[in-house]
Amino acid sequence: MPTPRVADPPLAEPLFRRLALLGIGLIGSSVARVAKLRGDLAGEIVANARTQASLDRVVELGIADRVELDPARAVEGADCVMLCAPVGAYAALAQAIAPHLVPGAILTDVGSTKQSVIRDVGPLVPAGVHFVPAHPIAGTEFSGPDSGFAELFQGRWCLLTPPPGTDPEAVEAIAELWRRCGSNVETMEPGHHDRVLAIVSHLPHLIAFTICGTADDLADESRQQVVKFAASGFRDFTRIAASDPTMWRDVFLNNREALLEMLARFTEDAQAMARAVRWGDTAYIEDKIARGRAIRRSLIEQKQA
Ligand code: NAP
Repeated sequence: MPTPRVADPPLAEPLFRRLALLGIGLIGSSVARVAKLRGDLAGEIVANARTQASLDRVVELGIADRVELDPARAVEGADCVMLCAPVGAYAALAQAIAPHLVPGAILTDVGSTKQSVIRDVGPLVPAGVHFVPAHPIAGTEFSGPDSGFAELFQGRWCLLTPPPGTDPEAVEAIAELWRRCGSNVETMEPGHHDRVLAIVSHLPHLIAFTICGTADDLADESRQQVVKFAASGFRDFTRIAASDPTMWRDVFLNNREALLEMLARFTEDAQAMARAVRWGDTAYIEDKIARGRAIRRSLIEQKQA
């Protein structure tokens, strides 16, 4: 099935009358941009952020119809509410908005961890409101309302992790929202999501932050040379390590078990590689490198690189 493009003409009536985005950084502002560009996601876009400065910027950028500093006011009358803040802020946000959600509304999110979101937000969702957790697998190392762009989700996956018994029509509405953003949509069990994301995203970030810290801890002269002669391998790590500290702190703490499990497996494998290097086990080293190349090739073939 061809991937829909963001620039495709409107397919139908707006999916939602009013879309409230709680958090309008990289992800929230990218959704807002798609909604503005296409016109068939929402009749009205309301943006909320933690600070007035971000909302002022949203007004300058013209990517929302209305801005509200109070999350409770932002969700009033909204038939779709999307949490787009760091996952550690979800519980407080859900508490603030729960009494103001209208019956029949869909509450969704974009958080990088899914079991924690269901744990923190699920019990606060009022009866009659549909809860459809989601995670667009798309991002950059930049944050804030200026960093978003409408093509961010193009050709990327969006994983939905609805709790058992969720209204299928609500799930389909959120799936359709992401398809209109250009994503391919799949449904996944939340625990499985967290394990998969631990290896493909959370552990690579942990390694990137750590290796940059290791380089930074070197004696002054060596550190200066790291910056001066940074080869592409280290440069790629620094790009990942430039990501937002709050967001990643929250991801690590809210996917703790899966991340620590993947880190333990990685540490064992790294020690096996160290042993192969120490003893000159060329077959082992070549095999690992060849497997890395094969993974890269298959990513390119699947247009995910
Ligand atoms: P971001 O660019 O840093 O934007 C975060 C937004 O949330 C800002 O509008 C911020 O408001 C607001 N916010 C921050 N702390 C808050 C709090 N305590 N209470 C209420 N609002 C708060 O972050 P992002 O990259 O868009 O990430 C947002 C969500 O998407 C996260 O849950 C993340 O896990 C998920 N996600 C991120 C990526 C990625 O690569 N970045 C990819 C997929 C999913 P101010 O600007 O006023 O501080």
